Amino acid sequence: TAVATACLPVLGRDVRVPLVTGGEVEYAALDYAASAPALQRVWDDIAAYAPYYGSVHRGAGYLSQLSTDLFENSRATVAEFLGCRADDQVVFTRATTDSLNLLASVLPAGTDVYVFETEHHAALLPWQQREDVEVHYLSAPRSPRAAVEVLEAALAARTGDGPALLCVTGASNVTGELWPVRELAAAAHRHGARIVLDAAQLAPHHPVSVAELDVDWVAFSGHKLYAPFGAGVLAGRADWLQAAEPYLAGGGASRKVARRADGGVDVEWHTTAARHEAGSPNVIGAYAIASACKALTEAGFDRLVERERELIARVRDGLAAVPEVKVLSLFGDDADRVGVLSFVVDGWNSSHFAAALSAEYGIGVRDGLFCAHPLLRELLGADDSEQGECGAPEAEPGERSLNAIRISFGAGTPDEHVDRFVSAVR
Ligand code: PMP
Repeated sequence: TAVATACLPVLGRDVRVPLVTGGEVEYAALDYAASAPALQRVWDDIAAYAPYYGSVHRGAGYLSQLSTDLFENSRATVAEFLGCRADDQVVFTRATTDSLNLLASVLPAGTDVYVFETEHHAALLPWQQREDVEVHYLSAPRSPRAAVEVLEAALAARTGDGPALLCVTGASNVTGELWPVRELAAAAHRHGARIVLDAAQLAPHHPVSVAELDVDWVAFSGHKLYAPFGAGVLAGRADWLQAAEPYLAGGGASRKVARRADGGVDVEWHTTAARHEAGSPNVIGAYAIASACKALTEAGFDRLVERERELIARVRDGLAAVPEVKVLSLFGDDADRVGVLSFVVDGWNSSHFAAALSAEYGIGVRDGLFCAHPLLRELLGADDSEQGECGAPEAEPGERSLNAIRISFGAGTPDEHVDRFVSAVR
C-alpha cells in the first residue's frame, strides 16, 4: 500500500543515471545516513539570501548587519527546534565530529567519560585525545534495557566524585535502532554524570527535545538534516563551555586583547557561543540548518516520522521474504528504528552487492563498516583479527567480508525508491 504522506521536495530528484543493462533511470538516493540531499525549501531560502551575503559580526554596513541578524536568528531557530532550555548555548560547528571534539576539548580535567563500544567513531574517539580524562568503554548491550543496566553498573562502580560524562547515540547509523536516551539521561544524572546526545542520525528522523530528554548537550550535522552546506551544531549547558579555553583561538572568540608590560598578551574571551566560533562563521551553513529546522517543523515532523516507519516496515517485510538476507540488529526484532537498516547477503560480498544495486538498478546505498568497527564486529560475530576498513574492503565473490550494506532514507524519499530497492534485492 502507498504511504499516506507525500515526500518533501529535495534537490537531485531529476538526476538520471545509466544502467549497465542499458537505458537509464531516476537515481534512487538511499544513503541519507551519510548525507541527505538539500530540501528544495532550504535551497530556495539560501538562493534568496545569497545576493545579500555579508560578513558576520564584522561590518558596519547594511549587508553585514543583515547577515549577522540572519546568523543569530538561525541560532535562535535551532534552539527552538531542539527544545533547548533558556540558558543553553547553541554553538555552530562544522558537523557532529567537530561538535563532539569541541565538547571533548572543554571537559574539566579528571572527567570520567563513558561511551559504549558500539558507537560511531565520532562519538567513540574524541575523548581519548585528552590525556587528563579517563575513558571507560561500555560493552555492547543487546537490548535498550541492558544499555541502561550496563551504564548503571559502570557508574555505581565509580570511586571518585569528579565530573563524569556519558556520550551516547540517539539512533544508530548502522542498525537505525533507537537508544533509550531518556532512561540513560536519568541514570547518568542519578549518579551525578552528564550526558551528550549524538543526534547525527536521530535529529533528521525524529523530533529531539533537549529539555524533555533531559540531556546536557546535543550534537548533529546539517548535511544529514537536509542542509548540506558545511555546518553542524553543539547545543547545551554553558558552564563547561564557558569555563574552558576556546576550541579555536582567534578573532571572533576574543573580546579584548592587550599587550602586557612584560611583552606577553592578555586575552579576554567571549562568554557566549562566540567563544568557540573563532574565525569568520559559515553563515550560509547556519542559515541552511535553521531553514531545514523550520521546514521539518512546518511539514509536521510527526507525520514524517510516521511515514518513515511505514517505509521501514515495508523494507523489513520485503527483505524478510529473501532467506539469504540477514538484517543486522543489536536490540532484536522489536526495536524501534529510523529509516536506516544494514544487512548482509549470504554468498555475496557486500561491496559487490552494493555495486550491483548501483550499476543495475541506479540505487545508491553504502557498503563498508560505517565508521563503527567494533559494532560491525559485534553484529557480524567477527573477532578482532578480522580486518576491515571504513571504506569498501576488497574480497573475492563468495568470500566472507567484514562489511555490510546499508540503506537509509528520509523525508525526500519517494515510495518508488524503496520499492525498487526491495525488488532489486529479491
Ligand atoms: N555520529 C553518527 C551516529 C553518525 O552517523 C555520524 C556520520 N556518519 C557522525 C556521528 C559524524 O557526523 P559527521 O561526519 O557529519 O561529522
